[in-house]
Amino acid sequence: MPQRHLREAAQDAARRSAPSGLGLDSAMVRQRMVSRLQQDGLRDERVLQALAGVYRHEFVDSALGVQAYEDTSLPIGHGQTISKPSVVGRMIAMLFGGAAAAQQASLGRVLEIGTGCGYQAAVLALLAKQVVSIERLKPLHDKARLNLAAAARGNIRLVYGDGRLGFAGAAPFDSIIAAAGGEDLPQAWLDQLAPGGRLVAPMVAPGGRGQVLVVVDHLLEAGVSRFVRSEFEAVLFVPLKSGVM
Ligand code: SAH
Repeated sequence: MPQRHLREAAQDAARRSAPSGLGLDSAMVRQRMVSRLQQDGLRDERVLQALAGVYRHEFVDSALGVQAYEDTSLPIGHGQTISKPSVVGRMIAMLFGGAAAAQQASLGRVLEIGTGCGYQAAVLALLAKQVVSIERLKPLHDKARLNLAAAARGNIRLVYGDGRLGFAGAAPFDSIIAAAGGEDLPQAWLDQLAPGGRLVAPMVAPGGRGQVLVVVDHLLEAGVSRFVRSEFEAVLFVPLKSGVM
């Protein structure tokens, strides 16, 4: 190996080990992140366990590896970011509050809009029967495919397309989760939400200032569908865009 490459490889190895000296793929490093999330109020054991089961550093650039187990969002290229673990945990815990998920003790069939680097899809896959995840940027769709091949999850289907249209071919979904926020909730998402299902998404707040988390439950009462919407805390997500690139 030429000298320069050796030096780069050594630097890379140094970046890959956590400040404590533990390797980034040590279970302790993930467990520490999860304990902090728990202290900060994330209570759902299933979600905590799933977060402890995914190597977040494998989904980001190796230069960012040392930050991968901090509660921070990180750039994944193409102007996009991977969400903070606390936000991923919060949204997935909210999905478990839906009637279908609560009954099945599983997120069931999940639609994710905004695959990004594939991290959240990997967490969801540990809690769901199947995950269909859509990404509109081809390079990120391809990157997620590589990242998830290493994680070898058989129950994730990656789709390159406009997530605003949902994915009718695999609908209905028990759980729908969006990682990008728009001005409205696309009708396709509501159409593809199973009775008893729950949708969690960031959305531009009424009045147009900032974003909030929105939860929609699909209730079926005496054969009649009703969608009940609630708004929660302020959040900061990348914008939900139309079309593919
Ligand atoms: N869950 C991701 C977070 C990615 S950030 C992760 O774990 O890495 C949100 C992603 O949503 C970006 O990659 C962005 O390109 C994508 N996105 C925005 N609008 C979209 C749309 N209409 N359809 C599909 N993906 C979209």
